[in-house]
Amino acid sequence: MNLFDPANLTSFNARLKELDPTLSLVEIKKILVGNGARKELFNIIDPELEVMLVMDDTRMFAGGVEIKKEIEEGFFKREINFKKFVFKSSDYSDGMVHADWENVDKVKKELKEGLCVVSVGSGTVTDISKHAIHTFFEESGIKVPFVVVQTANTVTAFTSNIAVLLKDGVKRTYPSTYPDYVISDTEILKDAPFELTQAGFGDLLARYVSYADWYIGYKCKNLDKYTEVPKTLLDEMLDYLVKNAGKIKEGDDYAHAVLTKALLNAGISMSIVGMSTPISGFEHVISHVLDMVCGINKEQPMLHGIQVGIATLFVAYAYEAMLDENDILKKLTFPEWNEVEEKIKREFFAKGFSNDSVLEMIADYKIKYDKWIESKKDIIEFFKFWDSEKKIIRGLIKSGDEIKSALKEIGINISTRAFPKEMEFAFLSAHFIRRRFTLADLFFFLNKLNSGLYKSIVERVSVE
Ligand SMILES: [Zn+2]
Repeated sequence: MNLFDPANLTSFNARLKELDPTLSLVEIKKILVGNGARKELFNIIDPELEVMLVMDDTRMFAGGVEIKKEIEEGFFKREINFKKFVFKSSDYSDGMVHADWENVDKVKKELKEGLCVVSVGSGTVTDISKHAIHTFFEESGIKVPFVVVQTANTVTAFTSNIAVLLKDGVKRTYPSTYPDYVISDTEILKDAPFELTQAGFGDLLARYVSYADWYIGYKCKNLDKYTEVPKTLLDEMLDYLVKNAGKIKEGDDYAHAVLTKALLNAGISMSIVGMSTPISGFEHVISHVLDMVCGINKEQPMLHGIQVGIATLFVAYAYEAMLDENDILKKLTFPEWNEVEEKIKREFFAKGFSNDSVLEMIADYKIKYDKWIESKKDIIEFFKFWDSEKKIIRGLIKSGDEIKSALKEIGINISTRAFPKEMEFAFLSAHFIRRRFTLADLFFFLNKLNSGLYKSIVERVSVE
């Protein structure tokens, strides 16, 4: 359906170059998408290399066959030399394997010349493997070949050259490396637990708010690059998915295939601009804060994409509130640094954040704050034309009601009781954890990021 078909990277890259020669091309050798695509794994691997399978201990099935076992047997039959690196969920106090630096180091220790890494799993295992390979290359100059076998349509990590990792309890995005091959077997993906598919769908909805964050951030001089090419890669597929969310739930083959390709393109959309801006804004920082609070309280967070989907709903209504604002110029503030710093400390210490993580947050936030103060003139110039800018912003987003109906169609629970416990804290404080500008920053600098705003949004979000 789309001119940007991730299964055909040659024409994909040619088209990309045509649209904007300044963008980075996709450096993945091949993405294999289709029913039974996993069989290709054995043809891709260089028989001279030793394979290291990186996975967790979750069992995954496709058409009744246990995938990880089938892959091992495949290597065994073909006499391909392989070993396993398995993350056991029982080794972790919260019963979950996390994409953190400790796990990256564990995989990195195993890497050497002559090895090929095949990760079989979802986002966590992919990001750990990806970044182990990336840091090993930086340290040794040895590039270990990397094949990703995707086991669920959960996240956008499979095709991206960035990794999202936890460091000192803070989730951050790091420049990383592309996989050489990605295998997206639609038979596996369709048979994955449905909540993982819901998560992938929820993660993609972020595009409908984050793009406006990027645009405003660019206009307010927080970012020096803005392009609508990533949006072009995504919108045809995303618009289809939003209209046909119910079909994914029904198990329709075509809808699942579109979801698969949309997630693959979403990973690429970030990589070609070297930033997560196309599909990560305010809604993602809300989700990151919620994860961090869960980490402190030793609670299990929601699935990333489901949480992002819910956060997107809040942000979509927040956008509507912002677009109702008039006379913004009169409301803009440029607060004193000391006051802001005190506020960050007060709010995050109260939630049990460590001194180190708060200091790191403050250092990062200071960069955004300084840009806001320094760019005062340009910012005022931008808001002089708020009425015409509003029209552009409206064209980049979807309404809260549209997001709400998409979430309902796919079956994500958006009843008030299902909201994450710390949603209000995350909504009001998330802007402090990232140096990139989001809608929350604009509300903050208008002195409007407060409980009143949050409550008015909850009223619109609410369904029982
Ligand atoms: Zn995400």
